[in-house]
Amino acid sequence: QDMIGGVSAARIAEFAAFEGERYRAARPRTRAALDAGAKGYLGGVPMHWMRDWPQPFPMLVARAKGSVIEDIDGHRIDDFCLGDTGSMFGHSPPPVARAIRAQSGQGLTYMLPTEAALAAGQLLSERFGPMRWQIATTATDANRFALRVARAVTGKTKVLVFNGCYHGTVDDAMVRLHDGQTEARPGLVGQVADLTQLAVAAEFNDLASVEAALAKGDVAAILTEPVMTNSCMVLPAPGFHAGLRELATRYDALLIIDETHTISSGLGGYTRVHGLNPDIFVVGKCVAGGMPTAVWGVSDAVAARFADYDASRPSGHSGMGTTLSANPMQFACLVANLSEVMTPENYARMEAGAARLSAGLTKQVERFGAPWHVVRVGARVEFICAPGPLQNGAEAEGAHKPALEAAIHRGLLNRGCLIAPFHNMMLISPVTTKAQIDRLVAAFADVLGHLFET
Ligand code: PMP
Repeated sequence: QDMIGGVSAARIAEFAAFEGERYRAARPRTRAALDAGAKGYLGGVPMHWMRDWPQPFPMLVARAKGSVIEDIDGHRIDDFCLGDTGSMFGHSPPPVARAIRAQSGQGLTYMLPTEAALAAGQLLSERFGPMRWQIATTATDANRFALRVARAVTGKTKVLVFNGCYHGTVDDAMVRLHDGQTEARPGLVGQVADLTQLAVAAEFNDLASVEAALAKGDVAAILTEPVMTNSCMVLPAPGFHAGLRELATRYDALLIIDETHTISSGLGGYTRVHGLNPDIFVVGKCVAGGMPTAVWGVSDAVAARFADYDASRPSGHSGMGTTLSANPMQFACLVANLSEVMTPENYARMEAGAARLSAGLTKQVERFGAPWHVVRVGARVEFICAPGPLQNGAEAEGAHKPALEAAIHRGLLNRGCLIAPFHNMMLISPVTTKAQIDRLVAAFADVLGHLFET
């Protein structure tokens, strides 16, 4: 009999079909609205990722507030996806909503700074460390611009990324390791550039593979998350980050730390909590409380090298920017979020809730004898349908069980709990209640009962 993550494939298919039908039956208004209104979109959705949810069709959201999201059929769902981190501090945090209301009558985009921009720059350094900041709109863009700076100041071509990583739709980082060789990921749309000229992949937690790549002398930057979060979560082995820092310095490659997901770690992100020392720091998604904003900052040393480079380049397009970035709404939201929402008190609540969730899920995994494990990075919790801990991207890919995960996600949603698609990630916001966490654990237990009990 075919088994996936300790569950029979037939049982998974049966459960997924049952839960899919239940989801469909409970959403007549959603179905009617999609039938009438989805035609205007390529593929029927405004952004193609929205087809990747494991439900038969997407939920149409009526509203969301705090840790609850409500669909147009009136289902009030406990939201542990929280926009896949964009709303990690809860939907519409009141200080951010107030800042939006105050700015909304004062202009939305100027291509000029404000006094709030100056305050935001100070707050960014207070929260994340004394870097020289730039404001972008998406973490994708922030990573792209960081890479340009790294190439500019080192004069080298390649970015080193880890097998299984995700840093947004950054073309250069869309590579993987296959039989020990770097190659473009197979699913890329319209890919024409030879990415192996621009990037090299190594395995996470494998400093020897990093050094082998750096030793060729053509690597401008190591771009990494502190913890791999975009496949099944992989924690750094003791000494891995110290080793990366040391190797980056020795081979003059800049160390770019992408904190976009690990900002869950605690105040200042994983970098601050664990004392990392990046050359360039990137964070997006929730940094302005859900207003589309990303920031990237360079160390003083990189800033000085870049100033020399900048003075010597011909005038003209830099390849960095985007018109709507660094707008007054972003500054207002950054100030509100950094000073009133991203606080030690809120992180303490998130941490306590996530510890409760992690313990609750672990107990159920043990109770059913599931060959799974649970990982937590601050407010971010994930169950992985394979034994752990995982060491690298190759192991993470092997641990990913799409059919089983999709069935579980459907089961959880029908029991009132939304978790992130693509992986089994759950976030705890400062306003997520114990009751919500306990409901999620109970829903998980019920789903495991259906999958495992004979
Ligand atoms: N970096 C990391 C680590 C991410 O997880 C993501 C998105 N999941 C990004 C960058 C890109 O963020 P965005 O989609 O907002 O550009």
